[in-house]
Amino acid sequence: MPTSRQMFINGQWQDAAATFDVTNPADGSHYASVADADVSDARRAIDAAGDAAAAWAATPHSQRARLLNKAADVVERRQQELAAALVAESGSWIGKAMFESGAAANVLRAAAAAAYQVKGEILPSDYGKLSMVIRQPLGVVAVISPWNFPLLLSTRGIAVAMAVGNTIVLKPSEETPVSGGLLLAECMEEAGIPAGVFNVVTCSRDHVAKVGEELVANPRVKAVSFTGSTAVGRQIGALAGGLLKKACLELGGKDAIIVLDDADIGRAVDVATFGCFMHQGQICMSGERILVHRDIADEFTRRFVANVKTLGVGNPAEMGNVIGPIINAKQLAGIESQVRDAEAHGARIETGGTYAGLFYSPTVLSGVTPEMRIFREETFGPVAAITVIENDEQAITLANDSEYGLSAGILTRNEERGLEIARKLETGMAHVNDAPVHDEAIVPFGGMKNSGLGRHGGTASIETFTEVRWVTVERGGRHLPPPFLEKAPD
Ligand code: NAD
Repeated sequence: MPTSRQMFINGQWQDAAATFDVTNPADGSHYASVADADVSDARRAIDAAGDAAAAWAATPHSQRARLLNKAADVVERRQQELAAALVAESGSWIGKAMFESGAAANVLRAAAAAAYQVKGEILPSDYGKLSMVIRQPLGVVAVISPWNFPLLLSTRGIAVAMAVGNTIVLKPSEETPVSGGLLLAECMEEAGIPAGVFNVVTCSRDHVAKVGEELVANPRVKAVSFTGSTAVGRQIGALAGGLLKKACLELGGKDAIIVLDDADIGRAVDVATFGCFMHQGQICMSGERILVHRDIADEFTRRFVANVKTLGVGNPAEMGNVIGPIINAKQLAGIESQVRDAEAHGARIETGGTYAGLFYSPTVLSGVTPEMRIFREETFGPVAAITVIENDEQAITLANDSEYGLSAGILTRNEERGLEIARKLETGMAHVNDAPVHDEAIVPFGGMKNSGLGRHGGTASIETFTEVRWVTVERGGRHLPPPFLEKAPD
């Protein structure tokens, strides 16, 4: 178990002036003491990334790809160790932790492939010029990541950005600095990524506002990739926008699972149980609202509640305990407050609604209405809120009645009907006969409305992390206006 951890700057492990403690949310035990960076440390990391940028951009793409594939090899070889860190530091169920570490390696491999996909264009020219559109890296990219899928979301933020020739300063969440950053730095170091190309600064909540501001505002940083809450993302986006820097923002959600009257109820129960309760509901794409057609609402609710009651709660290192702890007491208090508000306004607690320590029991509420806080505010906990709908139009209206627009699931035996609804939803992603919780390394992942701006993944990340330029060569076809031309000597 790690106890004392330094930051990774310019290929070296470095201390900060102070440290902060990270605890295991499952049992409150001490997990690690980690370097607590201040602004001067962030500046050092940005300078290291800035100094490494030109050489990395000039490194052949096949070599960048080879190094990222080596990093993927290391992540795969260390999968058990990475998964154990995710369990201990973030309260991940071991099954989720194994999935996450495997998916991180896959993201690195997809990024290695993306290194070969950076393409330009030759355009026709009215003047017979050689008219080229070229793509080039931006320079230093700052990546700020959350605690819920710390390894995967840090990797998603950095991988394609590095593959296409940018250098990185990563700041993982203060809840998960080890699994969200420092272990990834170890893998990069072992893979032989050159010094300064990948840097990690870790800091506590006390320092995050200043360090975060530096990571966005420092003139050597050219773009920001942020994954986290809408409130913080809005601040980062405003700061970056004022400085005319690119910001890719992956933010919160309040996703709906729509269960139509022709749905396969067994599939709907499976999808809702996974979609609402995977990682204790602490996923941006969690199905926090279930909109179920009146004709099947009773049967769906009965079977769903029975299934939810089978979910094991407890030490997430054990395969049987799919529900681990909530990350911290503040998050748990927010969940509890929404459940009590819903109850006070007439929702019925079908199961759950209790907690012990940081373990919140899987909870299903029925009779939820748009007037309740739980219908609108992101819960980020193991709570499914059921609302009965009368028809497809109402399903669409209610699903879209949200400030968020990340993902959605639509359960129906009629693909055409499902696709029609998917088209009308105001979400960045929608899945017919599946959960809103779904991601693949090469898809354009992202949200509409307050769920974000920009897309991560595959070619979308190439767009995000490169600059497009127009470059021409004149070959005698562009005639300038005669008054401007050099006059023949008298
Ligand atoms: P958060 O916004 O509190 O923190 C995210 C990151 O921002 C952390 O690294 C944190 O240290 C940093 N941060 C906090 N204040 C900052 C500041 N003032 N300046 C710069 N950085 C700052 O979010 P969280 O609690 O870590 O994560 C949960 C949230 O993330 C949820 O809202 C969830 O929906 C969202 N999320 C979104 C996606 C997505 O892809 N859309 C994925 C996972 C999580």
